[in-house]
Amino acid sequence: MTIKTWSTPVAPEESRPVPCALCGGEHFKPHLNCEGFAFVRCARCGLVQMNPQPLFKAIASRYQEGHGNDYLSYELANEAGFLRLQELALRDAGFDEIEGALKNRTAQTGQQPRVLDIGCATGALLVSLRDRLWACTGVEISPSAEYARRERGLDVRSLPLEENHFPDSSFDLVLASHLIEHLNNPADFVKEVYRVLAPGGYFLVTTPNISGFQARLFKGRWRSAIFDHLYLFSVKTLSALLTEKGFAIERVRTWGGLAAGTAPATVKRIADRAAKKFGFGDVMLIRARRN
Ligand SMILES: [Zn+2]
Repeated sequence: MTIKTWSTPVAPEESRPVPCALCGGEHFKPHLNCEGFAFVRCARCGLVQMNPQPLFKAIASRYQEGHGNDYLSYELANEAGFLRLQELALRDAGFDEIEGALKNRTAQTGQQPRVLDIGCATGALLVSLRDRLWACTGVEISPSAEYARRERGLDVRSLPLEENHFPDSSFDLVLASHLIEHLNNPADFVKEVYRVLAPGGYFLVTTPNISGFQARLFKGRWRSAIFDHLYLFSVKTLSALLTEKGFAIERVRTWGGLAAGTAPATVKRIADRAAKKFGFGDVMLIRARRN
């Protein structure tokens, strides 16, 4: 997992200025200077974003084959590592408790609990959830979707979430791991997640944490300050977006004190523990619930 990014900034005609996705504000201050691009911060609400922003078609083309990268090979090579991280994150989110509650509820009607994994890549996590008797659906816009369907027999849709037009209350649990920071319109996305969740359903969202220690230390060289990320959320800005769309925040966890290889193992272990305890970890997970 050494690749920081395979993307380079798009041509100016492939991007446009947008209002702030959280508050609609149009005034931004410089925030992070990276090599060849920058992030700005909304003067009103503090949401850090890339603005002007690459258009969706410029972004979508990155994930297709023949774009100078092989997304599927990358996903497959890292699959076991990614799955392990996702399972640790689920444990932190209190997954056993969520699963128990949902299975109790759905058992009364003879149904399985329904999960939607948005940005499910090759579907490794969905396979493990299917083994635990979940009814599984995935959304994945890269060619990994085809692999998940063909090799694993999963129901994985190749269109972005909003274009699938799932009926209201289709799912009991929605997962989005390292996805929301890539979207042009995270506000519409959160609204759509709310709609497709059944009342009382859970949304677990994982994303880099710009209020974490590493972001503050590395600034423009932070490993998550890359051109693929259109938004860099803090616990505060992501919580605000979720509650604004009607979600209740049930749990916030952050983890990762120092990146592997930047410090001796003992120092890293202490930093990781402290980051988790005090909430300044490099990645955050928010467990939100639909009312
Ligand atoms: Zn704003």
